[in-house]
Amino acid sequence: MSPQPVRRNAPACSHCGEQAVIHQRYTGRYLCGTHLIADLECRVSDTIASQQQIMPGDCVAVALSGGKDSTALLLLLHRLFTFRSDVRLVAVTVDEGITGYREATVRSAVDLVRRLGIEHITVSFRELFGDSLDTFLKGRKPQACSVCGILRKKALVVGAERAGATKLATGHNLDDEAQSVLMNVLRGDLMRLVRNSGEDSDGLFIPRVKPLMYIHEKEIATYLMVQGIWPELPECPYAIHALRREVRSMLSGIEYRHPGTMLRLMENKKAVRTAFPGKTFGEPLGTCRECGDPCSGELCQFCQLRHSLLS
Ligand code: SF4
Ligand code: ZN
Repeated sequence: MSPQPVRRNAPACSHCGEQAVIHQRYTGRYLCGTHLIADLECRVSDTIASQQQIMPGDCVAVALSGGKDSTALLLLLHRLFTFRSDVRLVAVTVDEGITGYREATVRSAVDLVRRLGIEHITVSFRELFGDSLDTFLKGRKPQACSVCGILRKKALVVGAERAGATKLATGHNLDDEAQSVLMNVLRGDLMRLVRNSGEDSDGLFIPRVKPLMYIHEKEIATYLMVQGIWPELPECPYAIHALRREVRSMLSGIEYRHPGTMLRLMENKKAVRTAFPGKTFGEPLGTCRECGDPCSGELCQFCQLRHSLLS
């Protein structure tokens, strides 16, 4: 819950004296709409440049679910690269087949790409895997997010390949990234904690980039709100089963009482990686014996899941 959107009797912006729309607790600043937009665009641009996430000649597949994070990501990238003829953006939407949820977000995605004039590719679980997530989850709802995550990752790669992409950008924000660090610690999965799909890919798959990885969820929501963009979307019905939901609520509480906690969690991951320069974390990547995709064991997660769904 940090930074906090400011509502009534808002203090003045730390830069211009206009009424603030957000209190950036970890920097101590209050920001008006104009300075929040400028701050976000500048920080995202810095992340992209410092990590060389997007380079001249890149075709970037932007994962667009139609929710807040991916909407903000596409808007930001469109703004940053709209006058760059050497970078191409293509939005990729995955329709998992979640009744009462995905229809609305897909509509929101279609509206956005039409407004921005960006090429759009949609892939669905039904087309790629033969049925909807709803059907795959019959009798296994508690595993919803792991099943969905593995299939969605595969579907996004197919979409990105169809777009001819050289990078795959996702809307993961600072809250998501800090939650992942903590979840990997809670699961005892230290290899996944330090592994970085982009850097450790060894050229085997399209590198994934996360331009919003240092932006708080609340900053993204306020960034959209001040521009009059507020997709009113339902919550995924399977979210209640997720460990992430519990971690999210715990971590937001800690961040509110101790601003900067999420950034410090991210620093831990970076510190471990920097302490072992050039080291490949986990088993070296090979290829799945069934589908040929890059993976660290004999079978990739997708093929393992395919077997368990069919059994
Ligand atoms: Fe998939 Fe879980 Fe997200 Fe729903 S909450 S879309 S099941 S990952
Ligand atoms: Zn496989």
